[in-house]
Formats: sequence, C-alpha cells, structure tokens
Amino acid sequence: NELVNEAIQQLQPYVPGKPEETLRRELGLEKIIKLASNETPLRLSDAVWERSAAALRDIMRYPDGSGFDLKRKLADRLGVTPDMITLGNGSNDVLLILAQAFAGPGREVLFSQYAFAVYPIAAATVGATAVVVPARDYAHDLMAIQEAITPHTRLIYLANPNNPTGTGFSDDDFLHFMEMAPLHCLVVLDEAYFEFAGHQSGIGLLTRFPNLVVTRTFSKAFGMAGLRLGYSVSSPQVAEILNRVRQPFNVNSVALATALAVLDDPNYVRDVVELNALGLKQLQAGLKTLDLACLPTEANFVTFHAGPKAGAIYDALLREGVIVRPLAGYDMPEYLRVSVGLDSENERFLSVLGDILKSQA
Ligand code: PMP
Repeated sequence: NELVNEAIQQLQPYVPGKPEETLRRELGLEKIIKLASNETPLRLSDAVWERSAAALRDIMRYPDGSGFDLKRKLADRLGVTPDMITLGNGSNDVLLILAQAFAGPGREVLFSQYAFAVYPIAAATVGATAVVVPARDYAHDLMAIQEAITPHTRLIYLANPNNPTGTGFSDDDFLHFMEMAPLHCLVVLDEAYFEFAGHQSGIGLLTRFPNLVVTRTFSKAFGMAGLRLGYSVSSPQVAEILNRVRQPFNVNSVALATALAVLDDPNYVRDVVELNALGLKQLQAGLKTLDLACLPTEANFVTFHAGPKAGAIYDALLREGVIVRPLAGYDMPEYLRVSVGLDSENERFLSVLGDILKSQA
C-alpha cells in the first residue's frame, strides 16, 4: 500500500452492483428488476439503433476526436457555440478532467455531504484537498458552501438535482450563489438529472459568470448509460483548458453516432420524462402507504428512510431479484435509493418491499 500515491491510499472505490445476468443465475430467478443506477427503463427506438449499428461498421477507425458534428448539434440546441462544449466518456470523465485541470495539491475542492461519489474520487486522484460541507436536511446548503470558500478553493461541485438524495435547490438560490462566488473558484453545476426537474439550466448564466461550468449526460434522460457520453458547457477559455487535459479519443464512435440519432428523435426524451413523472408518483404513494418517509426528489429516483434494518431489507429485496441502491457508502446507512422503472417494475418493487416489511414486523 505504501507504494500507492498517498492521496489514493484512503480512497474507497465506487462499487457498482453485480451484473444482472450473474445475479439472475445465482438466484435461479427468471427475471431481475434493476432499479439501482438511475438509468431509464425505456429502450431507444429502432431508428436510433440503426444509426448505432451503422457506426459499428467503422469501428476499425478511431472516432472523430473533436466530436465535430455532435458539438455543433448540441450547441444549436443549447444556444451556445461549439467551442464551449467539452465531450467526455460519461460526464464522470468531464468531472475528472475538471479536477485535473483546476485542482491539485494545495488546492481545495468543495462539495456537500451526501453529494455524488465521483467528486471525492476526482479530488483525491489529483491530490487536492476535499472539503465536505455539512448538508441541511440531506440537501445542499448553499450558504454553508459559500462560507467554506477559502483563498485555496479552486473547484466547487454542486449537483442540481443531487444524487443520491434527489434534492434540488432553487434557481434564485443558485443565482445568488454565483453572484457571491469569487472568480478564483470554478463552480461546476452538475445537471445530470436536469431533464427530470423543472429548473432553469445554468447554461443561461454562462455569459454572466465566466467561472461557471455546467455538466450534462446522455446516461439518464437520453437512455445511453451503456455507451458513456457526457459533456460540459463553459466559457471557450475553460473549454480550451479542458481540451488540453482530455484524452484525444475519449468518446467512442458508437456513442457519437447514437447521440446524434437520439437528438433527432422527437419523442424519446419526452416519453422518458413523462414515464418518470408517473413512476415517481407511483413510488412515492406506495412508499407512503408502507409508512416509509421519502426525501423530496426532483430526479428519476426516490431515496427513502428504510430504518435500522435497511441493510437487511436491501438483502431481502435482492433475494427476490429486485436491486436497489444501499446508501451506507454515502454515510446514509438507514436509507435506500430506488430508481423509477416501468410501471410493472415499480409495482413489483413495492409489493416485494411490503412483504418484507410484514415478515419483519
Ligand atoms: N453526476 C451525477 C449527480 C450522477 O448521479 C451521475 C450518474 N450516476 C453522473 C454525474 C455521471 O453520469 P455519467 O458518467 O454516466 O454521465
């Protein structure tokens, strides 16, 4: 262990769930319901697949390392210029590139307690000092984060809505935050779940605040988690710096082609968002009937208080083939997070959970 970079020695790995197929075989079940990673349950259309498949024909070639077509299309959509966009292998990649470019030894990276697990990993891997600001009612406390800024703060990660809590902050509070944030701090607004919430995007504030960076992903509302594609929108100056750090071919060709196709699909994202709104209501109502308190959510998942037996409930759900997310690793050992699935999947989750609670009583 002493051979390992000191910053990495203390780091806990991000632990993904078991592959569904492995689990299905181990448990001898017919079907697994995965509600653990905030993916969308809807498949992309055949028209989109055809374009992904066409891109597969040329995989002996490197992808377009500049992402020219996709950046242009995204820029049109977002009302920015292509030189403001940086593509990544998932938005995780962009979050890490930001740390590589702007954090480092002797520099502080701020984020909230109960924030996304990749922020501490990004800070640690570049040897920066992670400063965790206590949350308020499990949500980001923007005032407290503001007060924690020092002359050494270089990067602040905020997620709106946040994962794993689902909580969001208001457009007014964020505007106020940006007005107060000193220019030596780059504020990274992580909008991974933007499409599910009703907020204004931080992208509209970029011209006013040169120290703002907004990150987005194709993994959630755009149904492409398996292809890994995310991006940031920033000033062209910041984008130019990120481009120095970024690996030359960090986004694969199938992801580029598929993203262009999804952006051409007039219905997909709308359908995902509509299904999510219904599914959230279903889960919240069902959990309420089971007397389980939920954190307020603006995303595509619900985090609920399962109590001291949360671990046992998680295990029991798993044995029935329903995978949710335990949050002990987030220091929320009494909570579980469930992603919105199809109507039938949400129903199955609620009924299995109801049986487990009865058997525990
Ligand atoms: N930010 C937040 C808040 C997330 O929850 C996630 C996905 N779990 C990501 C970023 C990263 O998503 P991806 O790398 O798939 O774009």
